[in-house]
Amino acid sequence: MFKVPEIFKTKNKTLSFELFPPKTDKGYQNLLNTIARLCELKPDFFSCTYGAGGGSRDKTLDIVQMIQEKHQTSAVAHLTCVCHTRNEIKSILENIKDRGISNVLALRGDPPVDNPDWTPGDENFVFSYELVAFIRELFGEHFGIGVAGFPEGHILCPDLNRDARFLKNKINQGADYIITQLFFDNQVYFDYLNRLQELNVTARVIPGILPITNYQGLLKFIHTCGTVLPQKVIDIFEPIQDDPQKTFQAGLDFAAAQCEELLAGGAPGLHFYTLNKIEPVKSILAQLHY
Ligand SMILES: Cc1cc2nc3c(=O)[nH]c(=O)nc-3n(C[C@H](O)[C@H](O)[C@H](O)COP(=O)(O)OP(=O)(O)OC[C@H]3O[C@@H](n4cnc5c(N)ncnc54)[C@H](O)[C@@H]3O)c2cc1C
Repeated sequence: MFKVPEIFKTKNKTLSFELFPPKTDKGYQNLLNTIARLCELKPDFFSCTYGAGGGSRDKTLDIVQMIQEKHQTSAVAHLTCVCHTRNEIKSILENIKDRGISNVLALRGDPPVDNPDWTPGDENFVFSYELVAFIRELFGEHFGIGVAGFPEGHILCPDLNRDARFLKNKINQGADYIITQLFFDNQVYFDYLNRLQELNVTARVIPGILPITNYQGLLKFIHTCGTVLPQKVIDIFEPIQDDPQKTFQAGLDFAAAQCEELLAGGAPGLHFYTLNKIEPVKSILAQLHY
């Protein structure tokens, strides 16, 4: 199965879909169907998130392995180092490798809700760049490694230039590409590219896209992402927030326009936060010309 950097050699722009492991067996069965339908949209790769809470961790690898074996499509296993010792991370990476998975998104993660005060000790990694370096040290070039990028700065690092330097460090340690946090103002993404260009970061920065389908739901979690809601988003969605159909349609239109502008401006592809749904991604892609 191709590593993501190998896909880059033949594709100027990639299409990728992010999934999360469902909590129930029924959710898992539904996801199998969703993945099959998402494959009809011909993504270059999928990715699947990794929870710091424990229960869903094996499911991440099951889903990634299943996508590769059943659909012959590359898939990236997210891996967070929070709450894991170095030895545990080593075993998980060996398991990932043994399953035939060769793509990892190396993340720090955040302490889980049931252990919010967790702090790293001597046996733990503090930052994701240490995880990236560890993977390269132990496994050489076996894995394609992606990392997270934050066009509006990470929530703990509002100094945008400092945050960009931390990102450069992840690349220096061996990461191949970047997938961004969701954002709704394309200018923040283009400004981010400029900051990274000034630091001579040449790795691809794939924009992460979240179609707005539930405005009230978005308001509840947006503050945890460090993403600013631009006034134009508020103006579109606030007046129609009690009308699910209008919100859904406006979400499609907004995301399609956002994607079109990103691609026209040189973005090296699109990474959709699908929330395990076929729509709205399918309708958005149908509107795009690329
Ligand atoms: C595309 C994407 C996918 C994600 N997938 C998941 C997932 O599957 N599971 C999950 O739990 N979470 C996931 N997250 C969330 C992510 O784990 C959190 O945002 C987390 O808080 C930061 O992770 P990171 O890998 O960017 O951390 P890091 O790169 O370690 O950065 C964390 C903070 O430390 C700062 N920092 C970095 N290096 C240094 C340094 N040398 N000195 C001082 N400060 C430094 C950074 O600026 C930042 O503020 C994802 C985020 C994105 C954008």
